Amino acid sequence: MNSKETGDVILLAHGDGGLLTHQLIEKYFLPQFKNRFLETLTDSATFPSKSGKMAITTDSFVVDPIFFPGGDIGKLAVCGTVNDLAVSGAKPLYLTASFIIEEGFPLSDLKKIVISMAKTCREINLPIIAGDTKVVGKGQADKIYITTTGVGYILDEARLGYNRIKPGDSVIVNGTIGNHGLSILVERESFRFDTAIISDCAPLNGIIQKLLKRFEGIKFMRDLTRGGLATNAKEIAVAAGFDIWLDETDIPIKKEVKGITEMLGLDPLYLANEGTFLTVVSNKDAEGVIQLLKKHPLGKDSAIIGRVSKGKGDGDVFLKTQLGGSRRLSMLTGAPLPRIC
Ligand code: MG
Repeated sequence: MNSKETGDVILLAHGDGGLLTHQLIEKYFLPQFKNRFLETLTDSATFPSKSGKMAITTDSFVVDPIFFPGGDIGKLAVCGTVNDLAVSGAKPLYLTASFIIEEGFPLSDLKKIVISMAKTCREINLPIIAGDTKVVGKGQADKIYITTTGVGYILDEARLGYNRIKPGDSVIVNGTIGNHGLSILVERESFRFDTAIISDCAPLNGIIQKLLKRFEGIKFMRDLTRGGLATNAKEIAVAAGFDIWLDETDIPIKKEVKGITEMLGLDPLYLANEGTFLTVVSNKDAEGVIQLLKKHPLGKDSAIIGRVSKGKGDGDVFLKTQLGGSRRLSMLTGAPLPRIC
């Protein structure tokens, strides 16, 4: 029996951000690397410095196709890392970028990607201050992979943590879900639909800083990337030790996304987003947060989509369905959509 049959090899699903990714981290990485910064498993690691609390995060981007409606691998590589800093309460300061490029990759495409990265960085005033390039032989990588690392400082106003989440808190998203994952799938499979599905890929640091400076009732934030709303809500519920009840009728989903996911048998709750975050907010600030979000281009579809409840301590996530029933949501397992970011 070879190692593939015994399950001793990496599967595509190990990279989907769901259950197998978690098992990989818990079984292989954490036991060897464990320290008090890494073990929090949050979007960025927070560490002390002489001038205050800092945050650092790193992410590799292998999205296929490299150009998609609403973005490309370069824009994504900036936004992904910026957003992990932002949801940690950090103001991004510096970025590094590392490229692995396949022999034969068109320089014209590289130029487009680099211009797109630079444009996104300029928009948010974030310089790339170090980088690396490696080239591998034809077939040894697929076109181009980009790794970015970001550092920032934690805003004084940011007090985010699982430990602040309490029963009764509101669960809010800033926009519609499922757009990025579906846009990649539609582009990859060359499906033809009347309406284009556009990725939500966007840097969230501006809007998040506004929220954090204004509302001390913002208790936790998470960008809803791999695994989508459902997987991320489950992670939050487990870490906080409370249940989360989501209301299907309140979850903003674009009509075309709803239509196409139904047709393809996909659940938008599990599709990746790249410009959408979830925040857990004290009840007294929830309406104010929505009002501020609605005034911002990246928050106009924001909504209160659920509530934290005490539960039995297992961290269950339930979806109150449109039909009045409820179903339990678990982490993404199987049916992975590989190379989504
Ligand atoms: Mg994240």
